[in-house]
Amino acid sequence: MTRAVVAATVALVAGLVTAQTWARGAGVHAVRYLMGTWCDLVIFDPQPRGDVTESVFQEIVRLEHVLSSWDSSSELSQLNAHAGHGPQTVSDDLANVVEESQSMCGMTGGAFDASVAPLLRAWGFLSDSPDTPDVDVSREAQSHVGCDRVTVQHDSKSVALADGSSLDFGGIGKGYAVDRALAVLRARGVTRAKVDFGSSSLGFLGHIDGGWPVVIVDPLDRDTPLISFQVPDGSVSTSSQQERYFVSDGHRYGHIFDPRLGRPVESGLLSVTVITARGSSADALSTGLFVMGATEGKRLIAQMPDVSAVFVEQGDSGLVISTAGKLTGLTRLSH
Ligand code: ADP
Ligand code: MG
Repeated sequence: MTRAVVAATVALVAGLVTAQTWARGAGVHAVRYLMGTWCDLVIFDPQPRGDVTESVFQEIVRLEHVLSSWDSSSELSQLNAHAGHGPQTVSDDLANVVEESQSMCGMTGGAFDASVAPLLRAWGFLSDSPDTPDVDVSREAQSHVGCDRVTVQHDSKSVALADGSSLDFGGIGKGYAVDRALAVLRARGVTRAKVDFGSSSLGFLGHIDGGWPVVIVDPLDRDTPLISFQVPDGSVSTSSQQERYFVSDGHRYGHIFDPRLGRPVESGLLSVTVITARGSSADALSTGLFVMGATEGKRLIAQMPDVSAVFVEQGDSGLVISTAGKLTGLTRLSH
């Protein structure tokens, strides 16, 4: 499958959807293919000023040129090409995302680690044809992974990567784009809007009566809504191994890696959804918690007052759903 086909499939079956009823009566509804997925933007203000949707999409296009691993001319690709050459001056956006990634890496004990890129490359996940690598290749790649191989200086806006290391923002970039999209909307006077990135990262601006409805679908059967809840505003992100994977010798390997083991995560966990104020945090945490697993993940969430999460696991007799933190209106829709 080409990347576009994979991504389009992901968009169609993605694990998180919002109730479309809210789109009725919307001022503007626009969709564009961005960051490898469909970005769905709904503005509820009756007459937003000017061409706001175009401004939002242009901001995301701009960020794609900063953060993409797939674009060899992106700012990230340039930074990766200078690994081992000392501190490199970077844009505010790149510095922000590296900083947040480093902070998440520390917080999750290396479960979320943007320096996982050499492993993703060794396993072909930065191409259209992923496959299991030779043990030597995988081991060599893993030797370049670790938060300590990345140094970011906020004041001087510089980032240094150790020789052989590289970064990938597949686990945080869409969440950061949600934050920037909401910032553009806010700056243009929009009061109520929803940004939905291929249903894996969502952002809500403003409040609606009863809260914004969010539905998590069954990760194994994406046509089946599994649970619903409401959020006041902020961001929601879901990670799952069902979104990008390949099968080799009857074995399924997904795109989320355990950087500490140097291979795709394999556990009974099927999806993790994180609800919190900032999109970049929700996105990075959903990836990190997926790696940590439900038990360790819940321990981490217990220390984070403004974060909640939903874990979907494969139990002996069906799906097991558990939550951490506060969730409003949690309703199971199917068994
Ligand atoms: P989605 O692609 O749907 O947004 P995630 O947010 O979970 O899903 O991100 C998965 C992506 O993150 C992978 O495709 C890869 O680019 C990157 N990645 C994989 N494993 C890790 C990890 N342990 N830490 C940080 N990024 C990761
Ligand atoms: Mg993520």
